[in-house]
Amino acid sequence: MLRMPPFRVHNPKTNADAVAMWNELGGAQGDGPNVDWSAMYVAGGTDLLPNLKHKLFSPKHLVNLTGLPKTGIVETDTHLVIDGQTKLSALARNPLVREHAPHLAQAASLVAGPQIRNMGTIGGNVLLDTRCLYYNQSAFWRKALGRCLKAEGDWCHVIGGPKTCVAAQSSDTVPVLLGLDASIVLLSPGGERELGLRDLYRFNGFDHLKLERGELLTEVRVPKPGPGFRGVYKKLRVRDSIDFPQLGLAVSSRWDGTALLALDIVVGAAGPTPKPIKKLDRFLGGELTDERIDAIAELVRKGTRPNEAVQGDVAWRRMMSGVFTRRALQELRG
Ligand SMILES: Cc1cc2nc3c(=O)[nH]c(=O)nc-3n(C[C@H](O)[C@H](O)[C@H](O)COP(=O)(O)OP(=O)(O)OC[C@H]3O[C@@H](n4cnc5c(N)ncnc54)[C@H](O)[C@@H]3O)c2cc1C
Ligand code: SF4
Repeated sequence: MLRMPPFRVHNPKTNADAVAMWNELGGAQGDGPNVDWSAMYVAGGTDLLPNLKHKLFSPKHLVNLTGLPKTGIVETDTHLVIDGQTKLSALARNPLVREHAPHLAQAASLVAGPQIRNMGTIGGNVLLDTRCLYYNQSAFWRKALGRCLKAEGDWCHVIGGPKTCVAAQSSDTVPVLLGLDASIVLLSPGGERELGLRDLYRFNGFDHLKLERGELLTEVRVPKPGPGFRGVYKKLRVRDSIDFPQLGLAVSSRWDGTALLALDIVVGAAGPTPKPIKKLDRFLGGELTDERIDAIAELVRKGTRPNEAVQGDVAWRRMMSGVFTRRALQELRG
């Protein structure tokens, strides 16, 4: 049995209190894989608590976000504004989300299983730690193999070298949010700032978020896509009932009748950052023929380089990115 290590839980009542508390409790010291966390935020705890049992972090204090005021999901003229504490199950069934960004609701509904979606939040999903078969293991398992770069060691078992970590960004909602040009609102003692999701992630599995330490995610802002929008999310996983993605594919598109006007494809779970596919403009402006679908699927397959941090043969996962693209585009074409 894996035992939970000891820590104290603190229960702020406002966002500002949570940020102040995190700092007063000692925050975090150090950089990269060697961060020493005195305090960490916990939202649903569905990712953080298993990680604590695996002794991946040992904070003395947890700042519990579940008691913060909740604003739910509201619509402005231009955006859907989603409170960072929104549960994934609420996101999946929200009528505004289903109307404006159906593939965001679809992606949220495919995270893990029902119990985890009832606890897990959109904030925790966007800021989810990167994952790796050699990292998300017990301390005993990691020690037996030889610890890796992301956890107390100096070697990457995936790429066989001492320099880079390629653990995978494995959130289902993130490729969709990126394709929708969403942004997040972050609160720190210095005030509030908005950061585009396209600028949040960096290609470094042990330090993949371009955040200041202790910033609190308070909102996710999603621009409303407008008329003619269609989106779809495809997920590859071992067990449909619970597993993380082995590959995620988010397709956002805008149409005028049968003419394709805009297309955005983002691949997830293939590296430390979600991967937007480039050079799609040449397929815009006309009907989406079978030949064009095949060409786009091949472009996505070529641009997708999964690695062995995630379960499943890499060549097969790469091939499935093309298969999913073809299926998604055929669905969207109608
Ligand atoms: C069995 C299992 C299967 C899973 N399958 C999937 C899956 O298929 N797809 C998927 O995407 N995820 C999956 N997850 C991971 C997780 O359940 C979800 O990503 C969930 O959305 C995490 O949200 P949370 O609120 O529980 O985050 P927590 O575990 O509370 O936090 C996660 C991280 O984010 C930080 N954090 C959380 N909220 C904030 C905030 N507001 N501001 C600043 N920092 C914050 C925490 O400090 C922590 O570092 C799975 C987990 C388990 C245990
Ligand atoms: S990719 Fe995996 S094995 Fe390599 S350093 Fe990162 S977590 Fe460790």
